[in-house]
Amino acid sequence: MIGVVSKNHYYCEIIRIPINNNTMADKLISKIPDGPLAQKWTKRKSEIHLVSPNNKRKLEIIVVGTGLGGASAAASLGELGYNVKIFCISDSPRRAHSIAAQGGINAAKNYQNDNDSVYRLFYDTIKGGDYRAREANVYRLAEVSAAIIDQCVAQGIPFAREYGGYLANRSFGGVQVSRTFYARGQTGQQLLLGAYASLNKEIAAGTVKAYPRHEMLDLVVVNGEAKGIITRNLVTGQLERFGAHAVIIATGGYGNTYFLSTNAMNSNGSAALQCYKKGAFFANPCFAQIHPTCIPVHGDQQCKLTLMSESLRNDGRIWVPKKMEDVEKLRKHQIKASQIPEEDRDYYLERRYPAFGNLVPRDVASRAAKERCDAGFGVNETGLAVFLDFADAIARLGHQKVAERYGNLFEMYEKITASSPWEEPMMIYPAIHYTMGGIWVDYDLQTTIPGLYAIGEANFSDHGGNRLGASALMQGLADGYFIVPVTIGDYLSKKFAEPKTDVTIAEFDEAEKAVQARIDRLLSIKGTKTVDSIHKRLGLIMWDYVGMARDKAGLEKAIGLIKDLRKEFYENVNVPGTQFEFNQELEKALRLEDFFEIGELMARDALNRNESCGGHFRTESQTEEGEAKRDDANYMYVAAWEYKGDGVEPELHKEPLVYENIKVITRNYKD
Ligand SMILES: Cc1cc2nc3c(=O)[nH]c(=O)nc-3n(C[C@H](O)[C@H](O)[C@H](O)COP(=O)(O)OP(=O)(O)OC[C@H]3O[C@@H](n4cnc5c(N)ncnc54)[C@H](O)[C@@H]3O)c2cc1C
Repeated sequence: MIGVVSKNHYYCEIIRIPINNNTMADKLISKIPDGPLAQKWTKRKSEIHLVSPNNKRKLEIIVVGTGLGGASAAASLGELGYNVKIFCISDSPRRAHSIAAQGGINAAKNYQNDNDSVYRLFYDTIKGGDYRAREANVYRLAEVSAAIIDQCVAQGIPFAREYGGYLANRSFGGVQVSRTFYARGQTGQQLLLGAYASLNKEIAAGTVKAYPRHEMLDLVVVNGEAKGIITRNLVTGQLERFGAHAVIIATGGYGNTYFLSTNAMNSNGSAALQCYKKGAFFANPCFAQIHPTCIPVHGDQQCKLTLMSESLRNDGRIWVPKKMEDVEKLRKHQIKASQIPEEDRDYYLERRYPAFGNLVPRDVASRAAKERCDAGFGVNETGLAVFLDFADAIARLGHQKVAERYGNLFEMYEKITASSPWEEPMMIYPAIHYTMGGIWVDYDLQTTIPGLYAIGEANFSDHGGNRLGASALMQGLADGYFIVPVTIGDYLSKKFAEPKTDVTIAEFDEAEKAVQARIDRLLSIKGTKTVDSIHKRLGLIMWDYVGMARDKAGLEKAIGLIKDLRKEFYENVNVPGTQFEFNQELEKALRLEDFFEIGELMARDALNRNESCGGHFRTESQTEEGEAKRDDANYMYVAAWEYKGDGVEPELHKEPLVYENIKVITRNYKD
């Protein structure tokens, strides 16, 4: 049953089916507080039960993931006095994928005096997400954003500064103010060093224990509540059990379902899928972000794509030639881009979207690049590239200023392509970058399994159908430093009398046995295909049919193709080596098993959502100008999928989205 119960408080109630004989929560409730938008978070905080310091010491929390979400949450919870165990795949917590973030982090500080505000950040985010995110969560995110910057400055993060010492800002896509704080092109690295330093303080104090090179392979649910995890020690191969009073998932996004993406090689969706299979709903899986400015694919032996930060669109101008003869000469290397005169260049974003120009949101910029390349104007041999040009900026600002802003990005581009952006424009093309979908969470960031929380990119987040640039770091740190440490108290305030979780009980036995069976199966196949070769084929199916443009026939085809490929995987994959050694092929095979299921769920969700919104572009639903056309009457909801068993179609639940503080309109970046 789905319903609206009062003007300010909506809920969706779903009758749940017990899984594994556990009595699970029988309602899915968004828990959005009543009252005016600007007071909801204050109100919720005042209602939340506290846990006294002596009781915090009795409580154990597992945090899976050490990116900005996980590291900030674990450090904050440790500082509060809880006993925290934190897990990650890499050899050090500070090697999490977050370290790759380049461009910056948003906050409504209005340092530039350009009329920014909490409301404007909230408004831009809802609009940027094409009206498919929860109002209350997004407002809270904007509200908390300023505190993140204060916290990070106090930690010593070397944000860029103006001449007078104030923190500097730049602009990102989809906004008309400058609210992005940055540390050259290394913002994620610097923020993670800050969170990691806080984490280390807690590790030294004994409140946090770190388990690097431990991969979560299952969630343990006892009487309907999250009570622990099964991990594989990636060095020894041993399966291990860990119990706690609550579990927080901070394992990042599932963009690597597409094989080629800008994500770190280890990024995966497995922990989220394990939670889904144990009863956590998976929300909006088809909402994947395609970033417009990545180095184009250059061959079929590639396993990684490189992002060129969105910050480059502050000063870089995107164009393709107007004349086909110039395109042909470029492809044959008979002319260089710099030789094409100004009047023969099509600055198509500036032409189509005069109000925002090169700073339109990512989904809009990506589709526009695809449109030009599909029309034959792609500037490299594959026809899948457009120019990002700094000639104007260098002339206007001078070499030194441009180097200060983007120097390391220019160097990175030159190292990879052997072409200098100081002399010729960069070539860029859209690529998979981020996933807005993820584990469904309520306002407290709790999933449909009590005691299980999801934060950072792993949850279905505050970004709706499209995330604005520099808002992922903001969301991960808001979740980790300021939201989950508070909201989890409400759950734990009822748990401090409970003893430590006994990891010898039947639920742990069963979960470990199931993981062991998966490993044994994979090692016994001894086929002829490598894991990567099959993953690459899955990626192509995803890119071709669940990529930048989707339609009914293609999505149906994708579901069939994924099923066939999954069958072939189980018949013919070759996982060399054994369980009890450092075996990265086994790690990858386990993750690929899960990518198959995620890929299918993405296609199913995209098929269900017969509208275009944000990055989800159904070709059947577009305007005459080729823009995304929403269908608010039928699809203004969060699609939350419930697992029903292997080979059984998942069940769709709908959380209605209610906008009371913002007028829902068609996105317009033209005027
Ligand atoms: C190239 C690039 C540049 C970006 N630049 C920006 C930017 O400038 N601004 C911005 O706002 N956003 C940016 N983003 C997005 C942003 O970096 C991510 O969304 C964000 O860092 C995700 O943080 P996280 O903590 O949720 O997860 P992650 O940083 O992905 O961390 C996941 C953690 O989970 C661990 N893990 C995963 N699975 C398991 C498992 N099964 N068991 C144990 N541990 C596990 C990993 O080891 C890791 O520690 C960028 C993304 C990319 C790819």
